[in-house]
Amino acid sequence: MLIFTKKDELRAHLTEQKRRGKTLGFVPTMGALHAGHISLISASKNECNTTICSIFVNPTQFNDKADLEKYPRMPEKDTEMLKNAHCDVLFLPTVEEMYNDEKAPVFTFGYLDKILEGEHRPGHFNGVAQVVKRFFEIIEPHKAYFGSKDYQQVMIVKALVKQMNSTVQIVPCPILREPDGLAMSSRNALLNAEERMVAGYLPEIMSATKKLALSSSITAAKMFLAAELQKMPGIRLEYYEICDADTLLPIASISPDKSCISLIAAFVGKIRLIDNLILN
Ligand code: AMP
Repeated sequence: MLIFTKKDELRAHLTEQKRRGKTLGFVPTMGALHAGHISLISASKNECNTTICSIFVNPTQFNDKADLEKYPRMPEKDTEMLKNAHCDVLFLPTVEEMYNDEKAPVFTFGYLDKILEGEHRPGHFNGVAQVVKRFFEIIEPHKAYFGSKDYQQVMIVKALVKQMNSTVQIVPCPILREPDGLAMSSRNALLNAEERMVAGYLPEIMSATKKLALSSSITAAKMFLAAELQKMPGIRLEYYEICDADTLLPIASISPDKSCISLIAAFVGKIRLIDNLILN
């Protein structure tokens, strides 16, 4: 695996790869890698000749400074995992390398960056768009792989690609879960043993709520979920919404001909976790 820290050197290498007719698959990450990230690498390796993974804890997408500071960083372990996954290229830029050359543009995505994660993490999606745009301009991948765990992020990135008139194909990938159902996340490493156990109830309650939403009503389901979580010490619900899976707009009732999704953000102790579940 080749490791680059300078964008010009990476660009030169990838230009040569493209000249040789290689297709490029790109997997952006913030490191502290787990099997969910590696599943994106595998998806890229299945479909592209050269897979590039970036590890960059992007400061502009953190609305909470303490969250940025405590975000787990383990570059040596990550590098080993990527080597074992036969990733071809690792890009490990510094903040200066990513943000030294131009004024950061401000992106708007209509309602999409103001609801759910956008509402609770102001400026988050602007930061995501800034860094993804830069990565796409440096790497110019044919395909880029994103996890559906960050469902709204996938929609934002698709909207960004349209705004950029880019030809990058965005490939959403399924959520990988721990044996108890908890969605894999770098932030899980920050949970203590008790919090980790409590966090395992989140997917369980989401599944039970899904059944209720389908058999009864969205209102009943939301009330059930809020009541169940209130019983759990250490969990604080930030939001739980049931939305149209294509638009992410909230819906009042479930109809069989429209795909819908439930999305949650909750604090377990001081750690903020998100998850989602397709309902139909
Ligand atoms: P992150 O390092 O958290 O920014 O995530 C990098 C990429 O990995 C994003 O596209 C995430 O959606 C994806 N990802 C994170 N957790 C999972 C998971 N449990 N399953 C699949 N993809 C994931």
